[in-house]
Amino acid sequence: MFYQTYSKSQNYFTREVILDSGKGSKVYDMGGNEYTDFTCALGPNLIGMADDRINAAIIKQLEKGISFSTPTMIEQGLCEKLIDIIPGCESVKLMKNGKDVTTAAVKLARAYTGRDIILKAGYHGGDDWSVSTEIGAKGIPQAVKDLTLKFEYNDFENVRTLIRETGDVACVILEPVMNDGPKQGYLEFIQDLCYKNGTVLIFDEVVSGFRYSLGGAAEYYGITPDLMCIGKAMANGSPISAVCGKKDIMSLIDTGEAFISTTFGGECLSIAAALATIEILEQPGTYEHIWGMGKKMLDGLQQAINFYGLSDCVSTVGLPPHCGLTFRDIGKLDYLDLLNIYEGKMLNSGIIVSDTGFISLSHSNEDIEHFINSANRAMDDIKKAIAQDSTTGILTGRKINPVFKRR
Ligand code: PMP
Repeated sequence: MFYQTYSKSQNYFTREVILDSGKGSKVYDMGGNEYTDFTCALGPNLIGMADDRINAAIIKQLEKGISFSTPTMIEQGLCEKLIDIIPGCESVKLMKNGKDVTTAAVKLARAYTGRDIILKAGYHGGDDWSVSTEIGAKGIPQAVKDLTLKFEYNDFENVRTLIRETGDVACVILEPVMNDGPKQGYLEFIQDLCYKNGTVLIFDEVVSGFRYSLGGAAEYYGITPDLMCIGKAMANGSPISAVCGKKDIMSLIDTGEAFISTTFGGECLSIAAALATIEILEQPGTYEHIWGMGKKMLDGLQQAINFYGLSDCVSTVGLPPHCGLTFRDIGKLDYLDLLNIYEGKMLNSGIIVSDTGFISLSHSNEDIEHFINSANRAMDDIKKAIAQDSTTGILTGRKINPVFKRR
């Protein structure tokens, strides 16, 4: 089977689902079967599939043109809007993927500080500097690997020690929200550490941007990084990302000292989609809805864990807009066996989700109830598998085999 993104490949699903269309929270496969989608295309669909208002904005721009030979008014409009809504954003560069902007931010930090070492916590896309610490990937020179070090999110001492022992650190890049979010004072601590060491602080908000609030986790937690990377949810599924931040750092792009340039950066359909998405997100009640639906999901999942007595091996994780379950080994079953049972049962109940999922503006109370009822059935199966210490007869479909494994 063809696929373009690891996490959408057949290795991640218990059976093949080839999707054809979607509307709101629903997607439809080639046979017309309906699914409620909580993976939201791995995060981008924050408003919902095929939103009429966003479609209209894209169509209006389509009639004017997609790509131009000089800057455009609509491009300027989006950059001004981002400067308005993103904390600390004095200048913007539009790109396409999350990794375009995390790599751009890291390059900017190196150019600005004249240092090479990167400290990272989280996943920052598929470029060499980023994945060199994650998996034993081939094709990355040792010289590149040596320059990126990983620190433990929410471990105050770990990052402090790494900065002290490593010396000249160009940047600390982290996803500000991982797992259940930052411990009290953690983001402030990192910001202070960076400031004292002349290190650039980069928030990778490719997932968290627009999701926890319009200005991302930076706005939600009241911490302004030097540079911020946004992407996924910015245009409800259209390919666009941005690196934003302090003018004195960002200006290195314009002088060409930090070479960051791409043909489709100013592509106008995605820009139109981003502006329409932001306009919807700015309406009152948006974030109350997203947080409210997620809270209902987390509460329902916790009740199911309690009811089936699974707290030894299943926990809820995440803040309401991006939340779900985390599984642990038990007996002869490893965490992937439990995830496998869960995901397969959910899929057969008409729900697309992995261990964690995303809430969109189009998810309704009924969608969440459907989700929770299905999760209860999945946990019933997990309980049976634990009792027999095997997945035999319970696991339907194939074994999942993610590229990104926990170990
Ligand atoms: N940063 C984070 C936090 C991500 O989750 C991802 C993608 N999952 C990226 C960066 C890379 O984005 P992309 O796949 O669009 O390059």
